[in-house]
Amino acid sequence: MTKEHTLLNVVAVFAHPDDEAGAVGTLMNHSDRGDKVYVILLTHGENASSIKGTHEEIMLVRQGHVNKIEKIVGAQYRLLDLPDSGVFPSVENAKKLAKIFKQLKPDIIITWGKSSNIGTGHPDHRYTYDITLDAISYARYNSEEDNFEPNRKPVSLYTPYIGLDSALDNCVFVDVTHQQDRIMEFFDVYEEAYGEWPVRAYKISGMLMIGRIGYVKYGEAFKKITWRSARQFLD
Ligand SMILES: [Zn+2]
Repeated sequence: MTKEHTLLNVVAVFAHPDDEAGAVGTLMNHSDRGDKVYVILLTHGENASSIKGTHEEIMLVRQGHVNKIEKIVGAQYRLLDLPDSGVFPSVENAKKLAKIFKQLKPDIIITWGKSSNIGTGHPDHRYTYDITLDAISYARYNSEEDNFEPNRKPVSLYTPYIGLDSALDNCVFVDVTHQQDRIMEFFDVYEEAYGEWPVRAYKISGMLMIGRIGYVKYGEAFKKITWRSARQFLD
């Protein structure tokens, strides 16, 4: 980086281990720059149909994946205990996440969009968006359930563009070309969880398409939901 910048706290919130695939190159960029990067997964992904075993056994497999992924991405991961395929936007769940936001003080939050496609629009994904949005609000206030200071810092909220959803309107593009090898390592670890779904090929083609539009080799795109603060110039 040639420009001075304030180090940021970047917090990604997703439903299941491997959901962060759409944002992983961008998370690596922030980690490389020295920003603090956290990935909060609301469940352990114990319903994965591609992994054999009981829910407890699958949880262990997925925790094992995450332990490796943390090092590849350069992020701290936290897996919460909401049930896989049982994520629901309750006040209780939003306050659980708000407590984490109070501790991590995010400047940037990335979370699932509300896709209506089967697959990417898994109810857990859509409700993760609702829970995250509510948690940003609850984190701004005192709570009887915790003693953490309210986090009233302005937050930028993004949702990854994952190809199927909708047009690229209101998207920002991130150059992840130089993360190519690490992104492939990410897929080496998670591949068994994706089963027959060709996620690696899908990711590469998505990055190429977005890169083409953004004048780089590989890109990731995000919809801007909110910006932190007013700016003097467009960029
Ligand atoms: Zn998922």
